[in-house]
Amino acid sequence: MKLGFSPLTAGLTYRQSFDLAAELGLFLEIAYDQHEMDPRLPGARELAEMGRAAGVGFSLHLPFVDWNIASLVPQVQQLSLQRTQQAIHFGAEIGAACGVLHTGLVPLRLPEAVVHAGQNLHRALHQLELAIPVALENLGLNGTDLLETPAELAALLETHPQYGCCLDVGHALIQRGSHGPQEYHRLLHAGLIHFHLHDNRGSWDEHLPCGAGVVDWAWVRRVLQEFTGTAALEVTGGAAGVRQSVALLRGGKG
Ligand SMILES: [Zn+2]
Repeated sequence: MKLGFSPLTAGLTYRQSFDLAAELGLFLEIAYDQHEMDPRLPGARELAEMGRAAGVGFSLHLPFVDWNIASLVPQVQQLSLQRTQQAIHFGAEIGAACGVLHTGLVPLRLPEAVVHAGQNLHRALHQLELAIPVALENLGLNGTDLLETPAELAALLETHPQYGCCLDVGHALIQRGSHGPQEYHRLLHAGLIHFHLHDNRGSWDEHLPCGAGVVDWAWVRRVLQEFTGTAALEVTGGAAGVRQSVALLRGGKG
C-alpha cells in the first residue's frame, strides 16, 4: 500500500508538502478545486515536474466545491461534468495514481428529485472518459448527499464496473457508527483502489489526525497490510498531524 496526504486538509503549502512527502516517502493528494480557484498554483505540467524533482507521486481529489454532478439544474449538471472531465485530464497529466469522485447531492430531498438525480448520476458516470482510475467515495454525511447507504454505493459500482471505490473510514464511522468502516469494507472490498484516512469522535467530520478520535486503527492497519492500492491521509494539524498519523499507521500502537 502506498501512503500519502492531502496538503489542503493538512493546511500546508506545496513547498512544505513536497519536503514532508519526500522525507516520509509519501505521495500527495492534490485538490483540483484549489487549482481551479487559485491561479497562483502550479499548472499540471509544472506540478508533474515538481513531483519528479522531489520523487513524490500523486493522487487527485476531483472537484467537489460548488459542484453537483447529479444536479437537477441542467447547466449546473453540465458544468459539473465538464469540470470533472477537465480534472481527470489534469490527473492524467500529473500521473495521478487515481482520482477520487463524490456522487452528487440532492439539496431538496423530494422523492421525485432523488429519482431524477440518480438518473443524472448514472448518465454522468457513463459519459466521463476515465484517463486515470477513478474511485467513487462514500459520503452519506447528511441529508443532502444523494447516496444514503453502503448498499446504494455497492449497486452503483456494480452498474459502472469501470469505476473503483474509495473507502473513507471517517465518513463511514459518522454515517454508520463504530462498525461503519467494516460494513463498507465487507460490501466494497473487491473494487477498493483507494482509502481516505482521518479520525473523528463519531459525530461530525472533524478530519482529526489518526488516533485522535474513535476510528478502530488496529482494524485499519490490518486491512491496509493486504491492500495494494493507495491511501491518502485527510488530516488536519499541519505537519505534526501528518507525522502522528503516519507513525500510527506504520506500526505505532492503537
Ligand atoms: Zn474523503
